[in-house]
Amino acid sequence: MGFSKQTIDGIDVAGKRVFVRVEFNVPQDDTGAITDDRRIRAALPTIKALIAKGARVVLASHLGRPKGGPNPKYSLAPVAVRLSALLGLSVPLAPESIGADVEKLVSELQNGQALLLENVRFHPEEEKNDPAYSAELAKLADVYVDDAFGTSHRAHASTAGVPSILKSEGKPAVAGYLLKKELDYLGNALDVPKRPFVAILGGAKVKDKIAVIEALLPKVDKLIIGGGMAYTFYKANGLEIGQSLLDETSLDFCRRVLVEGAGKIELPSDSVVGKDFSNDTERKTVKVANIPSDFQGLDIGPETIERFSGIIKNAQTVLWNGPMGVFEFSNFAAGTRAIAEALKEATAAGATTIVGGGDSAAAVEQLGFADDITHISTGGGASLEFLEGKVLPGVDILND
Ligand code: AMP
Repeated sequence: MGFSKQTIDGIDVAGKRVFVRVEFNVPQDDTGAITDDRRIRAALPTIKALIAKGARVVLASHLGRPKGGPNPKYSLAPVAVRLSALLGLSVPLAPESIGADVEKLVSELQNGQALLLENVRFHPEEEKNDPAYSAELAKLADVYVDDAFGTSHRAHASTAGVPSILKSEGKPAVAGYLLKKELDYLGNALDVPKRPFVAILGGAKVKDKIAVIEALLPKVDKLIIGGGMAYTFYKANGLEIGQSLLDETSLDFCRRVLVEGAGKIELPSDSVVGKDFSNDTERKTVKVANIPSDFQGLDIGPETIERFSGIIKNAQTVLWNGPMGVFEFSNFAAGTRAIAEALKEATAAGATTIVGGGDSAAAVEQLGFADDITHISTGGGASLEFLEGKVLPGVDILND
């Protein structure tokens, strides 16, 4: 299939007001300082290209989940500062995302200048894809560019409403480089993977991964399952799992998938268990058949690490979503770290390695492996929905 959408390369933007939906929803600490600017850096190629072509760039993003109106805690002010530093160009923050003052600021932009609108979610209408709010935003644009992969699974005003209005006016709605890159990597992995193709799924709940397991199983050579969700598979196999996470509603699904995926699905054989859900709790390594009734599985064990790592190092395409254990606790991070290391080795040996966004991307960053992976997605929910085979509304609306 491949990526079939028009990009900014195909259009004339000089002197035009180009509305770029970016994903600047960055993590911050308690003081508001940005703790990881990967999403800002990921959008730079598109912004730089537009500036170089003499566009008048209007950037729009959300940050966090402000409910019901403006909240200084979720202001994009720190993002404007970091973006300006990374670009080497001052990008002022507009006081709002719509209205007469913002329209004036946009009209004063010169070719090659950029302006960041304040958090679009300060208007609850954004998430409702409200037509009136979309129309106000659309007034700021001659061209629409979507580079916000992390929000592309949402039909909101700034991801769906604005491009839809502009298209009805005969104006272009196209993809930025980050959106294209994300969909190229994920799409190629699914459609034309170099084999062996190995997917690794972890995290807490089976329920959240049912659709992706069903979509991936026919396509992969191996499906490795770790993390909290593995214990529901053991339970489905008739093992006792002590106090480990159990997703009761997914037991039937697990039983069925274990039959359908026989020969493909790889489950842990040993587990690092803890007495309580805390880093310093009493812990030991046991075979999965021997989890004590008063302990819970919090990481994969050394025997499992070796087997999983061997499979990964032998692969040509690796897709990873979800940690192997409670990596936030250093005493239970070894499994997740070892998988990151195996991906690093596979990459060095020529494999294409892709990490879905969210917790696994955070784990890879935190453990220091970010530069050793072929592609780390900037979108957790969006990459999962894409892998599930769902249509992403923010992509679907763009010009073919
Ligand atoms: P998810 O959002 O479903 O990808 O889950 C990520 C979360 O799963 C992380 O916060 C991990 O700490 C958690 N997790 C992974 N393994 C386990 C486990 N064995 N028991 C409890 N939580 C886990």
